[in-house]
Formats: sequence, C-alpha cells, structure tokens
Amino acid sequence: MHDVVVVGAGPVGLMLAAQLAQGGADVRVFERRAERSAHSRAIGIHPPSLDALAGVGVRDAVVAEGRRITAGVGRCGGRDLGTLPLTRVSPSHPFVITLPQNRTEELLEARLEQLSPGALRRGVGVRSATAGEDGMSVQTEDGGELSARFVVAADGGRSTLRDAAGIAVRRRTHPDTYLMGDFPDDTADGDLAVLYLEPGGVVESFPLPGGVRRWVARTSELESDPSADRLARLVEDRTGERLEASRNTMLSAFSVQRGIAERLGRGRLLLAGDAAHEVSPIGGQGMNLGWLDAAALAPLVLAALRDGTASRPGAGIDAAAFARYERDRLRAARRAALLSEANMALGRPSRGATLALRNATIRALVRTPVRGAVASAFAMRWS
Ligand SMILES: Cc1cc2nc3c(=O)[nH]c(=O)nc-3n(C[C@H](O)[C@H](O)[C@H](O)COP(=O)(O)OP(=O)(O)OC[C@H]3O[C@@H](n4cnc5c(N)ncnc54)[C@H](O)[C@@H]3O)c2cc1C
Repeated sequence: MHDVVVVGAGPVGLMLAAQLAQGGADVRVFERRAERSAHSRAIGIHPPSLDALAGVGVRDAVVAEGRRITAGVGRCGGRDLGTLPLTRVSPSHPFVITLPQNRTEELLEARLEQLSPGALRRGVGVRSATAGEDGMSVQTEDGGELSARFVVAADGGRSTLRDAAGIAVRRRTHPDTYLMGDFPDDTADGDLAVLYLEPGGVVESFPLPGGVRRWVARTSELESDPSADRLARLVEDRTGERLEASRNTMLSAFSVQRGIAERLGRGRLLLAGDAAHEVSPIGGQGMNLGWLDAAALAPLVLAALRDGTASRPGAGIDAAAFARYERDRLRAARRAALLSEANMALGRPSRGATLALRNATIRALVRTPVRGAVASAFAMRWS
C-alpha cells in the first residue's frame, strides 16, 4: 500500500509529488509518455509559484536560469499606451520569471528523483483507479496493479480518471485562435513583456532565456498549416518588428477553451492542475494555478497520512479542510479564467472609434491606482 499515486508527470504532478515526498510520503508517479515533451508551452512563473517552488527547493535554479520580467508595456501604432510595473507585486519576488515548461519540468523531475529515487515511472500509463474501503486500487496500462491510500489525477485537461469518476466539467469554447513561436530576440525591448494592441488583433511578445523571444499573434481562424513565415508576416504587418523565420525554434497554432470541474475529488481520488481546471493560455496562468493547487493539497494529504485518518475505512482527507480547498481553488480557477477572457477580449481586432476609446481607457487606467491591482491580478497575487 503506497501513500499516494500521482497520475501524470506534467509540471503539476511533479510539483505535488515532490511536496509529498519531502513531507515523508511514499509516492509513485506514473507518466504515459516515455520522454518529456520538448514543447516549451508555459513560460510565465508568477511570484506565488516562486514561493511554492522555494518550498520544494527548486526556486533558486528557476530564478537563476529564467529571465526576469519587471514590467509589461501596452503598445499601439508604434506608441506606448502605458507601462505596468511588476516590481511592487511581491516583496520576495518583484518580477515574473520566464522559463520554457520543458526545462521547468526537468528541474522538478530532478528534485523528485533526489527526494525519492525511482518514484517516477515513465512510459507507464494508468488505465483506471477503483475505490476500496481504505484506499484505491490502480491498474496500469501494462497490466500492473498496485494500491495507494490516495490517487491524484494530474493527468491534464483530458483527464480520463476524472471522467471515469463521473466528475463533470463545465466547458466553454472561445472564438479566439493564435499562432505562437519562439525566435531570436532582435528587439530593443530587453526584459519587457510587450502587448501590441493593434487594429488587426493582438501580438504578445515575451523575453525568454538565451536571447530568445516568444511571439503570440491572434489569428482569424485556427491555422491548419502553421508556418514560421506566416507568423513572421503577421508580426511585421501589425508591429513593424522583423522576425527571421529561418531561425524559429518552436511553432504552435492553438485554439482555447475553459473547462472547470464541478468538484475536485471523489472519495480518495483527488484532482489537481489542468485535470481540475483548464484556462486559456492567454494570460499565462494555467500551470501556476495548478502549482497553487498542489501547494494547498499536499498539506491536507500529509496530515491525513500522519494522523492515521488515511488508513481508516471510509475516511480520507478531513472533510471540512477539503471543502475549503475545493472552494478556494475553484474560485481561483474562475478568476483566472475571467482574467484570461478579459485579456483575449482586449486583443480582438478593433478599429476606428472603438480602438480610440479602448486606447484612451488604457492610457487613463495606467495612471491611476487601478494599475497596481491589474499588475497584482496578472502576477496572481490573489491566487
Ligand atoms: C500554448 C500554451 C501556452 C501556455 N502558456 C502558459 C503560461 O505561460 N503560463 C501558464 O501558467 N500556463 C500556460 N499554459 C498552460 C500550461 O501548459 C498547463 O496549464 C500545464 O501544462 C498544466 O499542467 P498539468 O501538469 O496539470 O497537465 P499537463 O501538463 O497536461 O500534464 C499531464 C501529464 O499527464 C500525462 N497523462 C495523461 N493521462 C495519463 C494517464 N492515464 N496515465 C499516465 N499519464 C498520463 C500526460 O502525458 C502529461 O504528461 C500554456 C498552455 C499552452 C497549450
């Protein structure tokens, strides 16, 4: 009987497993992929996540390797609309870090291996998890079977364990589509994140380590045959910035949706990360939201293991504490979804009087104290 089986070694499963192992739990992590995805996906790491990463001893490496963003700038037609400084959002971390998700996962995986050698089993998917009296029975896709007091489904937005447990997800599909790519950074923007709020649609640009910049452009439909040339053309037409298509290192076309589970567990099966809530990547909150789930869930699981409740038939995590966890994390997910949706709305094509009004509103807002609240929301100070 293991203490916890974590299904999925994405950033959230790895973080949770490291937290549990550090707290003395006997953890197993199953990951269907034999190799870590090389896709850079999530890049933004916000101050509350840096605090959580510090708790498992990974923050210093992330900060040392990552790029510090200290402000975001809104631009339109070659002129700055305003600047949002991020230096006041957190005394311990007056910045947002960017680091490609595959590298962040590598650091978390190395830490888990230090804390609990061999805990991660790659290339082994979990087929099902069934509830027993004092634990769960886990069936793997290679025919194996094992038991654990708790199972955490950190198996992503299409979580099969969540669906098999009959936990419904409220979904909403958005009309927005994007083309995203990484290129050598030839801009003069240094450590600034830039939002080009142009008539044809938004272009976002973020510095990454190694002299690279991530570009994300809104498209009118999902690109069926995405190319670096197409992204470079969109960026140049809207912003005047020239990207060298031949030096593109990552390219992805994506559409977006919201999917929030109606509850975060059933019995001893618990949900965390995208399995619990998927939000639009525009706004850069999904991975961070999942890490904050992990930071809140790990102490509850550890407490149940320590005080013996976990081994009592029919028991599990303290019901009142779990209800608070569920309420707080679902609220944080809805807020993150709303913020990303506001972000997407801001970046839709806009012309004439509507564009002028939008720009005037942004210029006025960044001169008021609202600026601090907006910066805190983007940096997830409320999560
Ligand atoms: C283009 C893009 C850009 C993004 N940018 C940002 C950003 O800047 N900031 C941010 O915070 N978020 C961002 N996100 C969102 C972020 O990538 C996700 O929120 C994050 O990866 C969720 O982590 P997770 O561990 O919950 O799930 P995942 O990363 O999806 O990991 C789930 C893992 O479970 C494994 N798995 C699935 N089923 C099984 C099974 N049955 N058995 C075993 N293993 C299984 C999968 O192989 C996978 O490795 C972005 C997403 C995209 C697509």
